[in-house]
Amino acid sequence: MSGDGSCNRIVEVDLSELTGRTYRCIDGCALCCLCQPELLPREEEAFRKDPKLSAGVTQSHISPEVKGAAIDLKGSHGACHFLTDRRCSIYDARPHFCRSFPLNVFVGWRIQVNVNLSCKGVGLRGEDLEARGRRLVEEYGQERLSDEVRTSKAVFDEFMRNARDALVAQPFSSARQAAALLREELTDLVGLSRVMTYAEYGRTRQDSPPVDIVRRVRETEAEADVAERAMMDGIELFDLPELSLLPVHVGEELTWSIFRLVGSNIVGYHLAEDGGLSETSRTEPSSVDLLPVEPEGLSRFGEYLELVNRRDCFAGHAAYLCSIEGYEYNLAQVYLGAIANNMVDLWWRSSLLAGLKGSESIGSREAGEGIAFFDMDLLDLPTIGAFM
Ligand code: SF4
Ligand code: SF4
Repeated sequence: MSGDGSCNRIVEVDLSELTGRTYRCIDGCALCCLCQPELLPREEEAFRKDPKLSAGVTQSHISPEVKGAAIDLKGSHGACHFLTDRRCSIYDARPHFCRSFPLNVFVGWRIQVNVNLSCKGVGLRGEDLEARGRRLVEEYGQERLSDEVRTSKAVFDEFMRNARDALVAQPFSSARQAAALLREELTDLVGLSRVMTYAEYGRTRQDSPPVDIVRRVRETEAEADVAERAMMDGIELFDLPELSLLPVHVGEELTWSIFRLVGSNIVGYHLAEDGGLSETSRTEPSSVDLLPVEPEGLSRFGEYLELVNRRDCFAGHAAYLCSIEGYEYNLAQVYLGAIANNMVDLWWRSSLLAGLKGSESIGSREAGEGIAFFDMDLLDLPTIGAFM
């Protein structure tokens, strides 16, 4: 393992997102116990043999595309079957998913370990996350890792071949460099509008150098209505049929909140362990303005943007979008459009939470709350490649 957090034995493993980060689980938080852990085949076998454990196993998962056994949720959208008063009642037997949290191992053209910033224990003094990530990866063994990478790399290679045939290919590295150079635009209303307009109407030649992409973005008229898009995406976000699929926010007092579109209002609820809901707020979507961002808030948004820009699962997400759009747009356009959309979503969510607290701007704290409310969903975006 080299000092910069990457190693190159059989498969490349990138732990750089964890470097310098520590973590301590917050007693009574239990956010991760709302995520319905999947069971590995060997875990399912062990759970099925034990009467207490088998009572919590289900085959129906909150995400229909996920197959296999998982742990049931109380009341279909509450906490894990085994959570009692915010404590795990099977702590020593808890599945791999729970033991790994807040780390995610992504398999793309290499292995990359990401940290879920929705976990508020990240950043607290405690365990060294890089060391934990290294142990987590080692547990899989080199053989399994290299098999998984070989399979996933073939998918990425096929994507790139298709993109090249359609004349829309772009190395991920140049899309990333362009996004890094556009950091200011990607955290600014006019800049975001420019990037979104470019993503939709720009014409980019295959394999354009990053400086050319940046120049084209900066020459683009800012025509996209960012505030309008933010509101429409916000409404869509909370307009889901299943309560279990709605994003959860953990407040400073460790309350769990979910928001749902009811009629024309976004209704906020406190979520109880058994799935019970009590209404706490009612907001007209059109009243949620993108709040002004203070320099400290801007710097947190910028740091988050840099982190997303290094995530392989996000590159895989752009590739996924490019393919479902029929390889119509240059990959750099799709990539920058996806980053811009997600930054707007983050800004909107931060504004919603800040507004409910009576804040009129987004400082460091409000930006941090927004990131915590957002990152779990970003890690859940459809992608080519997969989390182990
Ligand atoms: S989300 Fe993080 S802090 Fe909260 S219970 Fe899970 S691991 Fe602990
Ligand atoms: S098994 Fe335990 S740690 Fe895992 S989600 Fe359920 S209650 Fe939480």
